[in-house]
Amino acid sequence: MKLMQLVKDQKAAFLDGRTRSLKSRESSLNQLRKLIYRHEKELCDAINEDFGKPYIESYITEIYTLLDEIDYHLKNLSTWIKPVSVGGPIVTFPSKNIIYQQPKGTILVIGAWNYPVHLSLMPLIGAISAGNTAILKPSELAPVTSAKLKELFDRYFKPEILAVAEGGVEETTELLEQPFDHIFFTGSSRVGKIVMKAAAENLTPVTLELGGKSPAIVHEDANIEVSVNRIWWGKTINAGQTCVAPDYVLVHKSIKEQFIQTSKNVLSSFFQNDFQVGKNYTRIVNDDHFNRLNELLNKSKVIHGGLTNKQSRFIEPTLIDANWEDEIMKEEIFGPLLPLLTYDDEKDIPQLMNSMSAPLALYMFTENKEFQDFIIENVPFGGGCVNDTISHLGNHNLPYGGTGYSGMGSYRGKYSFNTFSREQGILKKPSWPDPDVRYPPYNDTKLKWFKRLFIK
Ligand code: NAD
Repeated sequence: MKLMQLVKDQKAAFLDGRTRSLKSRESSLNQLRKLIYRHEKELCDAINEDFGKPYIESYITEIYTLLDEIDYHLKNLSTWIKPVSVGGPIVTFPSKNIIYQQPKGTILVIGAWNYPVHLSLMPLIGAISAGNTAILKPSELAPVTSAKLKELFDRYFKPEILAVAEGGVEETTELLEQPFDHIFFTGSSRVGKIVMKAAAENLTPVTLELGGKSPAIVHEDANIEVSVNRIWWGKTINAGQTCVAPDYVLVHKSIKEQFIQTSKNVLSSFFQNDFQVGKNYTRIVNDDHFNRLNELLNKSKVIHGGLTNKQSRFIEPTLIDANWEDEIMKEEIFGPLLPLLTYDDEKDIPQLMNSMSAPLALYMFTENKEFQDFIIENVPFGGGCVNDTISHLGNHNLPYGGTGYSGMGSYRGKYSFNTFSREQGILKKPSWPDPDVRYPPYNDTKLKWFKRLFIK
């Protein structure tokens, strides 16, 4: 009931136009900037309490990225909201034709736990820029961060403009029954289907930011040391609990041994066998995920790593010798286990990958432009990098989103603004002239004139 009232209040606030002007949008963005900037330490501490993420990792991936995005919106918003004039065909002459960017209304943002500040606030920036009111439902699996966001939003914003609604399945289900104007969901494909079904009841458009098994392909010409560094960085940041982490690695069979040896060196230089102290390495979020990963690990052939500690929910970054049929290749891993597979002929790669659902990201390590184009053209995936992992998310000029089971729609920068705006086409006509060729009564002369004027 309280949630239903909150949605009603936000809809009323939207309709009275309070969020529409450039000034009010900029003011909310600045307020959000203040909230993040002033309370960054409290937010990072909350994340650390939830699942032991090191401060520097939280600062870079959660705080910095948000401040950077807000600044980008503040810099460009006055251009983005301008109506755009377009041309028209002769049949509409004389007229002016204009595309307006209309805010959608009241938005629901549902966040995931693994980057609990970033994934909650990043879409919200776009919702504010586009002139909407919004309710954020952070993940209950990062409860300390969720409570901190609620506390801060209550202090910094009026609830009828921007509000945090905490809760798990029950509260989210209630929220999903409300007639939102857009739902932005980040999470699993399983829950993505639930969200889309619920949204269909109110014909609410959705953006789904989901997951999948994102591969890293290492071609025979790759710089092995750089590839291994960047793959293990992508895999160990947040202990592999990243939607765009390389899920598994597919290397050319001629470089398998080199990849293994370099992995051992890189991992010992990254962590100096000092994981247990936890300054450089995140914990697994909860017992269920720890047990799931531990089970996968126990069924696997470990090449390097394999240490675990149930009490502190620690899992060592682990390289695994794998086959396509193995259990670990069936689902997104979402943890620090890296299956290693090989290929012989690059022509086989699309068939191997396309037997699984399209991943959120794909990474390829190679200098060979033909190989890059071959993969980009023949394997569907959300987005990705050549010779890197994850860093495509660091550029607000690139749209970020999945395809098929890894999601629909995209955001970041202008793409966020577009996601939460509705394009409205308006044709403005002068009252004169008003030729009667289109009006009844119809006759052959009118048709003849129409054809003569408009058909080439
Ligand atoms: P999840 O789907 O379990 O939960 C996400 C959100 O959905 C939470 O807020 C949760 O409260 C809500 N939820 C859970 N069950 C629900 C139900 N039955 N009905 C209604 N709402 C429900 O996902 P998660 O465990 O938080 O995150 C992990 C998944 O998210 C992975 O698959 C990962 O790849 C994906 N992910 C994707 C992105 C991206 O940007 N594309 C980012 C992070 C995570």
